Amino acid sequence: MKKIYLLISILILGMVFIACQPKTVKNKYKSVVMSSNEIIDDLVKSIGGNFIETSMVIRKGNDPHSYTATEKDIIRITDSSLIIYNGGSLEGRLEWALSKIGNITPAVSIIDCLPKDKLIYDTDKNSGKKTVNHHFWHDPVLWKIAAHFIADNLASMNNVNQQIYFQNEEVFLYTLDTLNNYIKEQVQKIPAENRIIVTEHDAFAYFGASYGFETYYLHGSSSSSDISSADINELAALLIEKNVTTLFLEATLPDKNIRLLQSTLKAAGHFVKIGGTLYSDTLGYNNDYEAMMRHNVDTIVNALSSK
Ligand SMILES: [Zn+2]
Repeated sequence: MKKIYLLISILILGMVFIACQPKTVKNKYKSVVMSSNEIIDDLVKSIGGNFIETSMVIRKGNDPHSYTATEKDIIRITDSSLIIYNGGSLEGRLEWALSKIGNITPAVSIIDCLPKDKLIYDTDKNSGKKTVNHHFWHDPVLWKIAAHFIADNLASMNNVNQQIYFQNEEVFLYTLDTLNNYIKEQVQKIPAENRIIVTEHDAFAYFGASYGFETYYLHGSSSSSDISSADINELAALLIEKNVTTLFLEATLPDKNIRLLQSTLKAAGHFVKIGGTLYSDTLGYNNDYEAMMRHNVDTIVNALSSK
């Protein structure tokens, strides 16, 4: 019996290993690598440097959850050497479009290569169905795994430049370690009872798990689901119970639902402030991962350091 278990374990490990192997693509001196969004595009540029020509599917500043593939996008994807996407249903209809394109352009998902025990799952309160939360890039330690995954894929695509890619990866990993230490230091300024992040959608679950915050939200991990007045009232009751005094806006979402939550709380005699705007699914004005993370951390620390 033990042998059967061992064989199954080997097969499962083998499947994971195979799934995470870089895809073989055309070996060009300068290749076009398409990223699904600006966050992945920034990482590809950090690793690929001047040796990679990059492009994005979802336009800068747009909400990835509501993405719909256009004919023009399909042509751009099929013309590229490789497409790298987040996966876990972050990018709206992109995964569906890729399934239709087939093997014309190799496609790799970063989330598929993360250790399964590091993933966070959301449970739908109506259906009970579990779905993976795809916002793992808000944990710089998990983003290190993404950096290595991309270096591996670029090296596989162009082995002439692979040494450069792995050197760039080392530099970027150091940046992520420094960032991780910065966040750990900064959150110490927030009293333990104030470490609660309230946003419209569940984008900060990984950030919260890594740095000791409770997170509450109106949507699940997708911002494209509907919000009812019952959802607003339910969250308002919870925030009163937790004595939460700060809500955050998100750059890619209209502020009407959070404002409605704020006025619902006010009507109940509970006053909350808006702590600022966070970049949940985009990089923001600096167009840089590290700057985006520092902006979020600084905004959260400034808002929650005192009630
Ligand atoms: Zn999101």
